Amino acid sequence: MIIEKTGKICEGLYSIGYHFIPAFLLMSTPPVLFDAGLTIAGPRYLEDLEEYLGDINKLGYIFLTHSHYDHCGAVPFLKRNIPGLKIAAGKQAAEILKKPNAVKLMKSLNEDYEQKFRKQIGTADISFSTIDIDILFEDDDEYDLGDGWNIQVIATPGHTKDSVSYYIPKVKALIPGEATGVYDGNFEIQSEFTSSYRDYIRSIEKLLTLDVDIMLLPHIHILTGEDAGQHIQKSLESAQAFMKRIDTLLSRFNGDRDAVINDICAEDYEGKQTVLQDKRSYLLNLGAKVKAVAEER
Ligand SMILES: [Zn+2]
Repeated sequence: MIIEKTGKICEGLYSIGYHFIPAFLLMSTPPVLFDAGLTIAGPRYLEDLEEYLGDINKLGYIFLTHSHYDHCGAVPFLKRNIPGLKIAAGKQAAEILKKPNAVKLMKSLNEDYEQKFRKQIGTADISFSTIDIDILFEDDDEYDLGDGWNIQVIATPGHTKDSVSYYIPKVKALIPGEATGVYDGNFEIQSEFTSSYRDYIRSIEKLLTLDVDIMLLPHIHILTGEDAGQHIQKSLESAQAFMKRIDTLLSRFNGDRDAVINDICAEDYEGKQTVLQDKRSYLLNLGAKVKAVAEER
């Protein structure tokens, strides 16, 4: 089944915020939120936390999948509102989230959305800022949160160097961030090997060994049952096909990366119009994927 809205997913697991930028709430002790997307979603996350937890201060942790602006944008706002909150991420994320240039770019990308969502935000101070990471995860770490809620941390670099996936064996749920790509408007997988194609493939191969009943993707789609089970293999095939397409274009355009980016953007973004991402982020990511393939050929 494919779920495209927020709300209860299964006993103890909820999707909150806006469906295009959900965060996942696990009702463990204390409760954990996985990712906290764009700054604009902050007030909505808070409303939903209030609804499901009664008291927002019960939230113990935010576990981040990676250090991108649309996965940790609302963390500073939530930290300001929930003082006891602890933030956990893959160990490389801590450095990035303190770098002035990275913080500046993430703030600016979030501000693009803030202008569009003025009305919904109201007067709340949702501004992005430096994030201090309290807990640094390594590959194979396990986090026991009582009542059988054990969380396995799996390092899945390739989308970013600091990408980690979280597996919750009790309900066979996987939160991969963008380690397995995202779906476009045609329900085709858009591969996201923005830091390394080779690492991305190795990471997907690692995830293939898991028994997954619930796949919690970061933008819009939650997959259950057979759809969840088949997703990782489909991600592997999509990534291999997209790499080949970039490789062929690099040969055709004599290694001219900008020509490759323009060709793909014209066909996919302008032509098919099925990409569910704003153009600035799409081009940033596409440029990084072309670079990754060009440098690993
Ligand atoms: Zn990302």
